[in-house]
Amino acid sequence: MSNPYEAAKTQLDEIYEFLLEDYTDTVRLDYIIGLLKQPQHLFKTELTVKMDDDSIQFFPAFRSQHNDARGPYKGGIRFHPDVSEEEVKALSMWMSWKCAVVDIPFGGGKGGVVVDPKKLSVNELKQLSFAYAEFIAENIGSWKDIPAPDVNTDSQIMAWMLERYEQQIDHHEPGVFTGKPIELGGSLGRTEATGQGGVFVLEAYTKANDLHPEDIRIAIQGFGNVGYWFANLAQQAGFTVVAVSDSSGGFMADDGIDIDHVHSLKKEYGSFKAAFEDTDKSSYTFISNEELLGLDVEVLVPSALENAITIDNVQSIKAQTVLELANGPTSPDAEEILVKRGVDVIPDVLANAGGVTVSYFEWVQNLHGYSWSLAKVTADLQEKMETAFNNVYYVMNAKNCSYRQAAYV
Ligand code: NAD
Repeated sequence: MSNPYEAAKTQLDEIYEFLLEDYTDTVRLDYIIGLLKQPQHLFKTELTVKMDDDSIQFFPAFRSQHNDARGPYKGGIRFHPDVSEEEVKALSMWMSWKCAVVDIPFGGGKGGVVVDPKKLSVNELKQLSFAYAEFIAENIGSWKDIPAPDVNTDSQIMAWMLERYEQQIDHHEPGVFTGKPIELGGSLGRTEATGQGGVFVLEAYTKANDLHPEDIRIAIQGFGNVGYWFANLAQQAGFTVVAVSDSSGGFMADDGIDIDHVHSLKKEYGSFKAAFEDTDKSSYTFISNEELLGLDVEVLVPSALENAITIDNVQSIKAQTVLELANGPTSPDAEEILVKRGVDVIPDVLANAGGVTVSYFEWVQNLHGYSWSLAKVTADLQEKMETAFNNVYYVMNAKNCSYRQAAYV
């Protein structure tokens, strides 16, 4: 399995020749590239949590602050058993590029805890969130580092972290966390923002390439916040979602999936596998994740975790376009093969930047005491995503490079 931090550094090296075309001071360019290959700060600890049975458990935890040249560090906090130092470093690097691609005034950060949250009670999850907030309290702030939700963390967890943070600093400061509940200063439109941003990018891509939504069938790996909202909004925009999956496998229907129906099944049964065993088999076919990745569709949307498409399975990919809604789902060696085959890989730093863009809107509202309407948030998001896509598209054509290389440039 590819190491995400090594992948992130390789991707940076791959654009060096393109940057050379624009920079004459190569000594400074080399210095900056070296600087950007590592985070400015990496904090790590073992969080101590008192469990419901009174035992004490320890959970390794990290926060990586990659670069703040463009503004405060910004990035989510992930709760997952596979979290590692290398992973948070990579994710914080990608956040720096992402904020730059959509031109918002933030640098890159990322945090994580090595834990399987499904094994914790609500109270244990709350204690873990408090412990994480205490660990990073000194090093975050509205003008320093602004965390947000990521895999397995949500607005409730942001509310707990904000509560403990504000106790520590002894004043009200809602702008330090984004992705909060609306009642605590969250923004309308934040929950669906990453999926909505992905749809805006896909629409801009179809327009630029003279394609039409009604001709496009989509397969989506991962059906959490990002996968569900993307599926829902893509269907509303006229695309056909023919397959969705979670970690247990997925549902396929040639004529299109009823997204609300499978969403309610997922909620009721916890996993697609469990749901399928108890569902009318004439509507859907059950497929494995590997089968989903190899479906003959126009657009494949990885929206789960890193390393979904690697050298081991790249030959099975049939889609003409990969829209990366997860962070780092395509390893660099797999991407090289796809790009050589003429597949468009629309990179994470562009495709999933809708989430951080609305997080930025939330931060602006918090700093000024505004509550924007959903219509304003969505319209501003659309403008940001279309502009970012058009800028990347322009650079790609001007430099004759891939979408990712253009986004990085
Ligand atoms: P989530 O926890 O809500 O959902 C993750 C989903 O992935 C779940 O449905 C899970 O079952 C599925 N999954 C996990 N392993 C899988 C596997 N091996 N195969 C298929 N499915 C699998 O997380 P999320 O917030 O939707 O984030 C998903 C991805 O999007 C992550 O890479 C995250 O970093 C990225 N992202 C999220 C946001 C955001 O706003 N939430 C923003 C930008 C990027």
